[in-house]
Amino acid sequence: MKESHDSPTSAVSRRDFLKSATGAFAAGMLLRSSPSTPDAPRVWMTDFDYGDVRLTGGPFGDHYNRILASYLALDNDRLLKVYRQRAGLPAPGEDMGGWYDADGFVPGHALGQFISGLSRYARATGDAGAYAKVRALVLGFGETLGQGGYPYASVKAATTWPCYILDKYEIGLLDSYRLAGVTQSKDLLSRVIRGALPYLPDHTYDRGPDSPKQAPYDETYILSENLFESYAVTGNREFFDLARKYLLTADYFAPLAAGSYPLAGKHAYSHVMALSSAAKAYEVLGDPVYLRAIENAWNLLESGQQYASGGWGPKEAFVETDQGKLCESLRTTQDHFETPCGSYAQTKLARYLLEVTGEARYGDGLERVLYNTILGAKDPDGDNDFFYYSSYGPLAQKSYYKSKVPCCSGTLVQTVADYVRNVYFRGGDGIYVNLYTPSELRWNTGKLPVKLVQTTAYPFDDNVHFRLQLPAPAEFAISLRIPRWISGSAAIWINNRTAPVRAERGSWATIKRRWNMNDTIELQLPFEFRTEAIDSKNPGTVAAMHGPVMYVAATPPENLDSVPLHLPQGIEPLTNSPGQFKYELPEHTLQFKPFFAVHDERYNTYFLKQDANV
Ligand SMILES: [Zn+2]
Repeated sequence: MKESHDSPTSAVSRRDFLKSATGAFAAGMLLRSSPSTPDAPRVWMTDFDYGDVRLTGGPFGDHYNRILASYLALDNDRLLKVYRQRAGLPAPGEDMGGWYDADGFVPGHALGQFISGLSRYARATGDAGAYAKVRALVLGFGETLGQGGYPYASVKAATTWPCYILDKYEIGLLDSYRLAGVTQSKDLLSRVIRGALPYLPDHTYDRGPDSPKQAPYDETYILSENLFESYAVTGNREFFDLARKYLLTADYFAPLAAGSYPLAGKHAYSHVMALSSAAKAYEVLGDPVYLRAIENAWNLLESGQQYASGGWGPKEAFVETDQGKLCESLRTTQDHFETPCGSYAQTKLARYLLEVTGEARYGDGLERVLYNTILGAKDPDGDNDFFYYSSYGPLAQKSYYKSKVPCCSGTLVQTVADYVRNVYFRGGDGIYVNLYTPSELRWNTGKLPVKLVQTTAYPFDDNVHFRLQLPAPAEFAISLRIPRWISGSAAIWINNRTAPVRAERGSWATIKRRWNMNDTIELQLPFEFRTEAIDSKNPGTVAAMHGPVMYVAATPPENLDSVPLHLPQGIEPLTNSPGQFKYELPEHTLQFKPFFAVHDERYNTYFLKQDANV
């Protein structure tokens, strides 16, 4: 029983509250005004340090631990081999294979990302192995730098992907310096950027017919974010000037801000990744064109590019909207979403937007892409095979990419290591809870250390429980994200009493009060199955969503995509299998499970909806 009998007169039982959700609301929602100075960037909230948050279980916590283990197992000699060979040093160990080798597609590409991801893990977990591995890789890489700091693994790397690979070296050195305490990384960062400079184009450009012939896929326009950060760490003004030079403002961000950039046909991942550079430019330069660009981009992605998973870009390109192209893609390709890279770009964009606008809808989007894309990535196999595309067509099956060590090997560890950054944010007057997942947060309010313990079986259960631990009473706000998709009223109890807190869908429910040791908050977010159409032209082709989670039909019959289903009403709980559901066909019982829980079995993501208004 949740209700308490030691409560004052305002207390009502949970059942009464649910029956009558009126009257219980009082002013509690934090209303924020516009920034006082028009050209000062709005920053509503910031994320916590990696070390402030601990995942204590649940699907994210389990995935987080598995991915750390698989990257700790990568062999340092193999990772450094192409670099040592180029430097003429002893180079023991086997080749990495695939993209990574000296003559591979992008030689040596992901080393910086492995260092970055492991640095984030080291900071968050304190894992001595992660710290040691980061240090060994940074120092090993430093030993291979050529004259003037030349960093590339081979001539091919320097000539075909100079920007793309430099960006990854930078984030590895930035993270190892700031998060893993490798002091040498600061000097290496300057040396590496200067060593790469002769290979960078002298101007920025959009990928397309104007790309240089020898580097048709390189991405000048993703460089600025980490160049701004490199300036912040080193103080070298030339990096700030480079960051500004490579911003693709005239050809991309300004038209995007004006609503006139043609997204269709553009390379999906790199154009979303570049939005992090626009976001960083907004933070650093304060020009609102960059804010409008990322807000418009988000709206374009949500309104016409995304599958129900939150992924986008079939065959790695954006589609023409309102032409039924997403539905068409179910039959024309199995390459629907470049999952680790795309989710890295999308989660970064969501965090930037959350931080500068404070709008809860970006938290909804962040939650969607986390549960339904990266969390569903097939685990690496320990032999340099990695997951790349999520497939949403009929009878799909998760598989590894055709080449070893693809781009997605680098973004997988970075995106998963960032799980801890997506759960809680800090605002001027307290904290924001963005994700409901078993975890602990530690922070200081004033000088008082506070710990918030979150326990829940969400997303398999609609209840979330919080307990506060603090040595003395303190006043601050706790804001809980209320998703847009809840199927009824959200409810909040404080110390087992209904709380007079406004909890409207698509907003934050803010509880500001004086908190005491062992105070509790209980949150209920009711949800049931709902369907989401794949695109505006095909309202009868739907995915099944349950809260934030996209459910798929596992081991489907061959013709399932042509069988009309009574959705969502026909989906029923599967007895004794929490989080799993069934749908009875005349000769087959369909098993519905989260996309993230699919292993090697075939599955269907989209279904024909019976009686759809088509
Ligand atoms: Zn990739």
